[in-house]
Amino acid sequence: MGTSYCIASGKGGTGKTTITANLGIALAQRGKKVLIVDADIAMANLSLLLGMHSSPITLHDVLLGESSVMDAIYDAPEGMSFLPSGLSFESYRRVDSERLGQVIDSLKDSYDFILLDAPAGIEKNVLAALSAVDCVLLVTMPISPSIADALKTKIVAQRLGAKPVGTIVNFVRGEKGEISPDDISKMLELPIYGMVPYDDEIRKSFMQEKISPTILTKPNCNGVKAIQAMADKLTGKRVKLDTGVKKPGILGFLNKLFSIFKRKPQEKRIKEAVEKKQSKEVEESFEEVPEISEESIEIKG
Ligand code: ADP
Ligand code: MG
Repeated sequence: MGTSYCIASGKGGTGKTTITANLGIALAQRGKKVLIVDADIAMANLSLLLGMHSSPITLHDVLLGESSVMDAIYDAPEGMSFLPSGLSFESYRRVDSERLGQVIDSLKDSYDFILLDAPAGIEKNVLAALSAVDCVLLVTMPISPSIADALKTKIVAQRLGAKPVGTIVNFVRGEKGEISPDDISKMLELPIYGMVPYDDEIRKSFMQEKISPTILTKPNCNGVKAIQAMADKLTGKRVKLDTGVKKPGILGFLNKLFSIFKRKPQEKRIKEAVEKKQSKEVEESFEEVPEISEESIEIKG
């Protein structure tokens, strides 16, 4: 039986869709049976990135109970499978996203990895995506607000019975003021699964004449190399995290060191604020969400 992962973050624009597409392809290139799911049923950006938003049968039809899931799964690059969403607002409005869990469960025997591209925020469709999976990978930028958002998502995921297993740091530039992977790991209390640098080739993936995941068009760029390393990690290889971002010179190093000492109290404040106050708010706002007993989840290596 395979493992299902939700690629989630507090806000939009952190790179969830980009990472789902490229990571799915990287896992398929390693001979794994992979299904990626466009669980952002309102925006369907993953379907756009793979050029499959006009597929005749989509996740909308499955969630409406009008089609079988097997009819909504299509062949995607490198032998990967893809369950797209549609762009129809009319069907989106009628969709029952709570069926997503059953849909994913029915597919787990057929794949090694199922990756769900989640919508942003903590609205109903996000909760459905988080509660449909075994494990959650949180995508964050190396800045405090993004990490605070990831922490909120982590708390919500735990409440829904999904297991947050790791963090993917995206848009790493190696600039002064960025929070280091070690500190991010400590703040979220999760290991780092990947460090993806800001990469112009990735930025352009939605801008080319033919929109396409960067792994297919620029397989050797630094951003893709980082995603390949993440696929190695998920398939059980020991990897050294390296973004390819140039190390700062001695002056940059001293600045960085200095900024770490200056930043500590701020980080501590954020962590305390989110954990003590905001987490309570999040918890309160989800009193409606039914308790799901936490099972022991085996993470596939
Ligand atoms: P989300 O799904 O979290 O909203 P997307 O994957 O759609 O985020 O990414 C938002 C934008 O950022 C897209 O234009 C994408 O090409 C760009 N992007 C994502 N990751 C990177 C990166 N590492 N470097 C440069 N641009 C990136
Ligand atoms: Mg997206």
